[in-house]
Amino acid sequence: MSHKIIAVANQKGGVGKTTTAANVAAGLAATGSLVLLVDLDPQGNASSGLGVDAGKGKTMYDVLLQGAPLVDAVHETATENLFVLPSNNTLVAAEVDLVDVAKREYQLQQVLASGAYDYIVIDCPPALGLLTINALTAADSVLIPVQTEYYALEGLGQLLGTIQRVRGQLNTSLELLGVVLTMYDKRTSLSEQVKEEVAKHFGEKLFSTVIPRNVSLAEAPSYGETIYQHDKWSKGARAYKALVKEVRERLGA
Ligand code: ADP
Ligand code: MG
Repeated sequence: MSHKIIAVANQKGGVGKTTTAANVAAGLAATGSLVLLVDLDPQGNASSGLGVDAGKGKTMYDVLLQGAPLVDAVHETATENLFVLPSNNTLVAAEVDLVDVAKREYQLQQVLASGAYDYIVIDCPPALGLLTINALTAADSVLIPVQTEYYALEGLGQLLGTIQRVRGQLNTSLELLGVVLTMYDKRTSLSEQVKEEVAKHFGEKLFSTVIPRNVSLAEAPSYGETIYQHDKWSKGARAYKALVKEVRERLGA
């Protein structure tokens, strides 16, 4: 199985993980690939943002901790080739319940092994707990969205340390796919300063595409739509399309 699993992770909330996971997944689906977007955040924003009601039927919690088959929880979406494994607040219990499970870090990896997708994109919760460890253990690579703000680099050391530990102990082949700046505002000199600083730190790992602050990106989820459905000519749509191109290039597609 040659599917490529990408974890979208950053323990900070509100940095653009869900927006990036959903629109990268949808952009990959638009190239004809079969894509599963895995919502691993109990807030369920990736699910609701794509119009999937996780209150109906099986969810992430059922497949992760109750042995429900993956196919029972996967929903189709209005985007061709894009499927969602939804979550809701029942997943809050997973952080605690997983502790008692044998091979607790490998549960998601086992769940996803049965899926025949070209790409799997995991939207991680804003924490470095067992759910995110499961995502990093299951993933081939990590995509880190970084909000373009004054404290952009704060907390990234902790995230990179966690990635290092997972690589050392649980998943030796885990790679850093790249870092993408989100909510970039080209009118401010701060944005350019932050970009330079992040570039200094991450070098070639920083994607050359930056995601601008764009109201269409913020609105789309309330319609249950991807940015390509909601406003395909918006700056946000064009940026995520460019990011998808870079992601595919880095993955050798
Ligand atoms: P996270 O998943 O890291 O918590 P989200 O993707 O949910 O972050 O983004 C946080 C908030 O910012 C959401 O309300 C989202 O709609 C909004 N948002 C994300 N990216 C952008 C952007 N590029 N421009 C404008 N708003 C954005
Ligand atoms: Mg989120």
